[in-house]
Amino acid sequence: MKIAFIGLGNMGGGMAANLVKAGHDVHAFDLSADALARAAENGCTTYTSVREAVQGADAVVSMLPNGAIVNSVYTADVIGHAPAGALLLDCSTIDVDTARLIGAAAASGGYPMVDAPVSGGIAAANGGTLTFMVGGSADAFAKAEPILSAMGKAVIHAGDSGAGQAAKICNNMILGATMIATCEAFALAEKLGLDLQTFYDISSKASGQSWSMTSYCPVPGVGPASPADNGYQGGFAAALMLKDLKLAMEAARSAGSQVPMGARAEELYAAFNAAGNGGQDFSAIIKTL
Ligand code: NAD
Repeated sequence: MKIAFIGLGNMGGGMAANLVKAGHDVHAFDLSADALARAAENGCTTYTSVREAVQGADAVVSMLPNGAIVNSVYTADVIGHAPAGALLLDCSTIDVDTARLIGAAAASGGYPMVDAPVSGGIAAANGGTLTFMVGGSADAFAKAEPILSAMGKAVIHAGDSGAGQAAKICNNMILGATMIATCEAFALAEKLGLDLQTFYDISSKASGQSWSMTSYCPVPGVGPASPADNGYQGGFAAALMLKDLKLAMEAARSAGSQVPMGARAEELYAAFNAAGNGGQDFSAIIKTL
């Protein structure tokens, strides 16, 4: 297929390369010359505008920083410029309301569209092992699945337009809160004189167990290898966790939902970022406890 790819940064660069490896003809556009140069090295054809990149495309994939940018790219340069009926796939993490608005604008322009945010970081984007949570009609999902499968290990239909973004932010709201809860339990265990490996051995087999503990332990040298063992570098940046928690708070306000734990997690990650720690892995918040 001829696939236009918009936004070839940390995540999009590897994703576009995997579409090339799967045999697609990938037409790339990014505002950054460096990103475009890497895309060309990976076998993409590069263009100087979104409108040029989407000419003749069967599908358009985007991986952009935020909802305002996604909205302006789709409404100004994709809808009405890509061929009628082209499939639109936005893989960025953005707010649910904007995802639904863009989905509706695409539908009125005659384009099937899915919101398809990802779980998994840069390594998963490069390795083609992302998990996609997809919002859109059954028909749009059926068309999107083979394209997304070339970039990921799991592609799950979450529901109608916006449902992918809803699943992503609800999942990451759990993650933010459980990471902080896990960090504070380790900090308290230490102050109470427990050996941290022993506490891990107990809690990982007891009811305190969670992904934050057993797959991504915030304590160096305890549990499987994680960013904690690498000076809290790599992994999932605290700035991105804060972004996702802010989106969750926005969605909760819009839906009238009570999220006291998510709200507290957002406050704590906001303070952690404000102290200049946004580039560290999100598990580094243990250092503040
Ligand atoms: P990034 O900043 O590395 O890449 C974004 C790219 O978009 C940049 O290359 C930028 O030049 C380009 N861009 C910005 N505005 C543009 C425009 N108008 N037209 C064309 N290109 C434009 O960010 P990233 O880390 O690749 O993240 C992308 C998305 O993926 C975000 O929504 C993020 O929340 C989500 N995400 C990231 C991770 C991660 O670990 N990095 C994990 C899951 C989800």
